[in-house]
Amino acid sequence: MNTLWTDFVNSEWHDWRGSGRSEDRLLKPEWQNDFLIQWQFSAPVPASAEDIEEMQILRRELRSFAEHLTSGGQMTSDLVDTINRKMIEGGPVTRLLKQQDEHFNIVLEPVANGWKKVLAEVVADFAQAFVNSGGSRIRICDNTDCRWVFYDDTRNRSKRFCDDKMCGNLMKVRRFRERKKQ
Ligand SMILES: [Zn+2]
Repeated sequence: MNTLWTDFVNSEWHDWRGSGRSEDRLLKPEWQNDFLIQWQFSAPVPASAEDIEEMQILRRELRSFAEHLTSGGQMTSDLVDTINRKMIEGGPVTRLLKQQDEHFNIVLEPVANGWKKVLAEVVADFAQAFVNSGGSRIRICDNTDCRWVFYDDTRNRSKRFCDDKMCGNLMKVRRFRERKKQ
């Protein structure tokens, strides 16, 4: 199942067919644009170097947490801190503003930079997925060439591959060939 946070993490793409090719799609303005449209956000495209760096750091953190989790780990206090910090950074800000007629108003303003808001939504989506399943539905594709992160929404939590028709089939064919060789 494609979700906001998995879509974000999977912007680091690895060729699932095993060519060893990989690509950081986050760097591409086309990816940034499609991502914003798909999840209905607005932010500057191309993203600034600073935004990109912040996104790459968060992405690395979420991916390594998914790896930690799928090998039996628990939630870490570091990640809890990151999530809460991102939510604050991307949330609206309450400000006291002087109006033209000398009156003061309290206004709720969105954060200036759209990408900070996007990242706040990404961590909120991840946090929701974690809370909903206690982390037990967060998976990494069993095809080690692919490494796609996904949310397993099957009833018995048995999904092993990002896509049974692609990675699932490829692994089936590989196992078959291995057996034949032996
Ligand atoms: Zn896969």
